[in-house]
Amino acid sequence: MKIRYFDHAATTYVKEEVLNTMIPFFAIEYGNASSMYSKGRETKKAIHLAREKVAKVINCKAKEIYFTSCGSESDNLAIKGVCYKNKQKGNHIITTKIEHPAVLHTCQTLEKQGFEVTYLNVDSNGCISLYELENAIKENTILISIMTANNEIGTIQPIKEIGKIAKKHNILFHTDSVQAIGNIKIDVEGMNIDLLSMSAHKFYGPKGVGALYVKEGIEFGKLQDGGHQERDKRAGTENVAGIVGLGEAIDIAYKNFENNNEKLKKLRDYYISQIEEKIPNVKLNGDRTNRLPGNTNISFEGIQSEELLYKLDEKGICASGGSACSTGNSSPSHVLMAIGINSKMAKGALRVTLGAENTKEDVDYLIENLIQIISELRKQ
Ligand SMILES: *Cc1c(COP(=O)(O)O)cnc(C)c1O
Repeated sequence: MKIRYFDHAATTYVKEEVLNTMIPFFAIEYGNASSMYSKGRETKKAIHLAREKVAKVINCKAKEIYFTSCGSESDNLAIKGVCYKNKQKGNHIITTKIEHPAVLHTCQTLEKQGFEVTYLNVDSNGCISLYELENAIKENTILISIMTANNEIGTIQPIKEIGKIAKKHNILFHTDSVQAIGNIKIDVEGMNIDLLSMSAHKFYGPKGVGALYVKEGIEFGKLQDGGHQERDKRAGTENVAGIVGLGEAIDIAYKNFENNNEKLKKLRDYYISQIEEKIPNVKLNGDRTNRLPGNTNISFEGIQSEELLYKLDEKGICASGGSACSTGNSSPSHVLMAIGINSKMAKGALRVTLGAENTKEDVDYLIENLIQIISELRKQ
């Protein structure tokens, strides 16, 4: 059976060009970048080139990029790194109720260590209020961490305006851009972003490699002791092939950006309109237009996501409940709760996230099967 993949917010395949640039770094160019001989220097050069590619895309300097093992590590390093270093200045952090667990759980850990966290509400589309943000700022606020775009409902936050507020109050601004990189144009300078997290496997690069941008001059502590890699901020021999892959993947993602984006938006809007037209009692979660180009999240009344996913899997369709609905845990998503939909509708959510390889034919296959499956499940 042909497998049709609609879960690009969870991870993506590695593009062939990306894979090809990575391969030499496993068995041929395997030198340690910290070594003195030329074999090590070649590796060092490759890492530098990747750093420059990332920097060019988000408009920063190469030396402001730190490679990590994933998006989660970048979030941890950014938030804990800044908080531990700035403890004497204050202990208050502002974030939102809809962050990824990599940010939410990091904040919860910091709360146990004596930091104070404000979790901002979002409106029914998943957007924060700039007014509420500014009101939450206190004397002791040291960091604002707000995601660029949400991984469940795709809502894009007003990052530039948030950056302006942070700058005006002299507070550091971190954004989790793991879903945004590859899908949205980011300019850290123009948007007043001080720290930014990304992860290669969300933009057709390999798993197990991420990056953190930290603006020059910002002090942050390291979380791991060891060698002097990544300018003393992230000890451990570099994942060279992964880093090279991340550099190539981000470069490719922004080369044909407009065309790819248009294609995804068209397919997304087609899917949404077809579902709304052909299946009764559904609700689109998140904003209709202010959302990631490939993201859709629709609730089906009277349906349990897990059952639906199981039936879709039988048809070779990969999608997601859009929540941490791991087996045995059917508590509704914290994001859907935050936008105020009732828990019954939240439990019937289906996240379909489109990507590079999806065609209209794939989407039609998905729609046909959904019509069939939803009608059967509702009869039971
Ligand atoms: C996937 C994701 C992460 C985690 O990235 P990993 O590389 O899987 O650790 C963090 N934040 C958001 C918004 C994500 O979508």
